[in-house]
Amino acid sequence: MKLTTKIFIGLIGGVIVGFLLTSSPEIATTYIKPFGDLFLRLIKMIIVPLVLSSLIVGAASVGDVKKLSRIGGKTIGYYLCTTAVAVLIGLILGNLFNPGAGLNIPVDAEVAAAEAPSIVDTLLNIVPTNPLNGLVQGNMLQIIAFALFLGIAATTLPENKGKPFINFFESLAEVMYKITGFIMSLAPYGVFGLITPVVAMNGPKVLLPLIKVILAVYLGCLLHAALVYSTAVKTIAKISPLYFFKAISPAAITAFSTSSSSGTLPVSIRSVKENLGVSDGVASFVLPLGATINMDGTALYQGVCALFVAQLYGLDLNFAQQATIVLTATLGSIGTAGIPGAGFIMLTMVLQSVGLPLEGAALVGGIDRILDMARTCINVVGDTSAATIIAATEGELNVPNKVLEM
Ligand code: ASP
Repeated sequence: MKLTTKIFIGLIGGVIVGFLLTSSPEIATTYIKPFGDLFLRLIKMIIVPLVLSSLIVGAASVGDVKKLSRIGGKTIGYYLCTTAVAVLIGLILGNLFNPGAGLNIPVDAEVAAAEAPSIVDTLLNIVPTNPLNGLVQGNMLQIIAFALFLGIAATTLPENKGKPFINFFESLAEVMYKITGFIMSLAPYGVFGLITPVVAMNGPKVLLPLIKVILAVYLGCLLHAALVYSTAVKTIAKISPLYFFKAISPAAITAFSTSSSSGTLPVSIRSVKENLGVSDGVASFVLPLGATINMDGTALYQGVCALFVAQLYGLDLNFAQQATIVLTATLGSIGTAGIPGAGFIMLTMVLQSVGLPLEGAALVGGIDRILDMARTCINVVGDTSAATIIAATEGELNVPNKVLEM
């Protein structure tokens, strides 16, 4: 049976058992919740090394790219701007849909009491005075900043000096992905252990919010494609958006069904080259980079889910905290692997960056694959839109006539 199916069974099972235990929720909290807690501890265990290693590797690929300065600069600029817009759309929809409102799950006292810092402090705090301290405390923005410095600096060194460093972290990142895979294989039990006590204490009304989360993420993805990518290809590449979406539809469909940007790469390269006439050079540079560092759909999903979790616990996120989410999700997307479920692990990092309870991610965990399909699709469409406009600005876009007739 596929893992996704098992996770769904865990979710549904948790809802049913939770519903049966509504009259005596202490059974759920005493005997079932520890399994959920164990799953959360496992996720927490890998966050710091995973983020550190994968960001160093991600940043190192950006550093390489810098050598191709003009195209590299344009590509990275486009990737970061569109990702930031995506988180903003996610936050707006999260505010509008209010998916987690009205449940008021009690929070641990220390989370509720956590003071939100001002925007200036938030920005200053990004630079760690002691990076090891940042790692020990799991301060996500500091870890991201330090990893970016390390990765980019390593690529500016001579090959024999910088490469061993990057190789080590590449290998660490691979090990972390392996452990992530193992932890995700426990997700059905983890989701069961986390959902059962929540439903037992709150009743089945917790399910409506999940439907709202799905609607908000799907609508956000559609809006992002309709607003951002359409405008970009129309104004910069002078191509009709409909025509663009048709041309890259094989990549979009593959991404939707595999939930993996990396796995979709061969199809995206083919689609932009054959259907849009993007040059070899641009396609083989912009798309692999995009599959590694550009995750608009993932960032949008994190915006929606962070608000969902805050609302779930009745916590208000102030402006500085929402700005922190934009920053963490945008920069964090650089270190998100293009594989199924990677964005969910990064969501826990985003939640941690603003002091939201990670338990909130559990509810999302049960429906994560449905969200992953939409966000991966947008991640890949974003990459192909970048290839198209970069090729256009470089004079390397030769749209074939056959597509014009589609
Ligand atoms: N599955 C996504 C991708 O491959 C990453 C994520 O989980 O958000 O693009």
